[in-house]
Amino acid sequence: MTMARKDMALISLVALGALLMFASSAKQIGAGRAAVGPLAPAKPLGPPITLEQVKDAGLSLREAMYYDKLPDGLVRCRLCPSECILAHGQRGPCKVRANFNGTLRTLVFGRPVALASDPIEKKPLFHVLPGSIAFSLSTVGCNLGCIFCQNWETSQLAPEEGQHRLMIGAAHRRFPDIVTSTDEVTPAQLVALAEATGASSIAYTYTEASIYYEYMLETAKLARAKGIKNLWVTCGYLNPKPLRELCKYIDAANVDLKGYSEEFYQTYCKASVEPVLRTLKVLKEEGVWFEITNLVIPDANDDPEMVRKMCKWIVKELGPDYPLHFSRFYPAYRLTDRPPTPLATLKRCGEIAREEGIHFVYIGNVPEAPDLENTFCPNCKKLLIRRRGFRVDENYIKNGKCPYCNTPTPGIFPK
Ligand code: SF4
Repeated sequence: MTMARKDMALISLVALGALLMFASSAKQIGAGRAAVGPLAPAKPLGPPITLEQVKDAGLSLREAMYYDKLPDGLVRCRLCPSECILAHGQRGPCKVRANFNGTLRTLVFGRPVALASDPIEKKPLFHVLPGSIAFSLSTVGCNLGCIFCQNWETSQLAPEEGQHRLMIGAAHRRFPDIVTSTDEVTPAQLVALAEATGASSIAYTYTEASIYYEYMLETAKLARAKGIKNLWVTCGYLNPKPLRELCKYIDAANVDLKGYSEEFYQTYCKASVEPVLRTLKVLKEEGVWFEITNLVIPDANDDPEMVRKMCKWIVKELGPDYPLHFSRFYPAYRLTDRPPTPLATLKRCGEIAREEGIHFVYIGNVPEAPDLENTFCPNCKKLLIRRRGFRVDENYIKNGKCPYCNTPTPGIFPK
């Protein structure tokens, strides 16, 4: 994840009334051989891991979805575009998917390191049930290598460091009737926690939800059956097949489009932009509501021409109605040589987006300018929603429409 607001989300547990999250000091990414695949990641493999380490740390050995068995005990993970080829004991750069004896295993099924009750505005999702609570979770791990990661204390952890034990222990003490052991939080228990805390949705968030795909998918199926919405907060680095399966159960997504150049993605994220653009197009095809977040980093992706090209692409390929959130960067992780994004830069990005025809443009992570996160009707220009931080102060939308001119407001609103 790229946004400080997502980072801040890790220290709140609003409706639960107790802190249930954990994060600790990140360790350096372990060195390993480069993975081989169509988009071989510059991010190195996670450090090798043994079955004994997995058992000692109380990790999951559930078989992963989406992989090929190859000769000589190798496997090729097909979950994300890196398509890592792994030998016995190796794991991907995500650090949470490992090959043991020719079977790919997910190490983090049922092993959350963060459980929190957040305003949905924190994801950010501004056009989905405004003012509602999203029960939010994450495991450790991420498949990208963003040097500016705003959640690096969690995303860069290795699962065998065991932080999930603290989280699960806290959840067990707080909700002993729901989280009945200190070993895991099952998908059914996550749904029960969401119900117990009055959440309208479950958000798979904070780190990169794609890398705990199986945990997310199974939880999303159960949540859907109970009428609880599912929110995927993501870098969008997921292959089309698992993505289309996920789309059957996801109601809304916030996708980080971190920049609009291959060079930026390669240099700053150790990844490629094209799969992210493809994800946005697939979400649209599948009818999943989404909002886009662009973290604006000084001297990295703040070139007005790059921003304009990105906005043109959004309007041409996706249309003008998906909200675009420009977010302020704060120095973090390995990118500490530059200041937070100037407000003037963010405002210029917003102007460009509006000039290119995007209807809903927001500027976030700027506490001194809360009015930049209000929603206006694109037709009559009247105020529809006034926000203060993550709080909704005024909401005039009626039955999903502007009450003044009857123009539908795109998104998911109570009927
Ligand atoms: S999910 Fe992990 S193991 Fe699988 S391809 Fe992506 S980085 Fe590699």
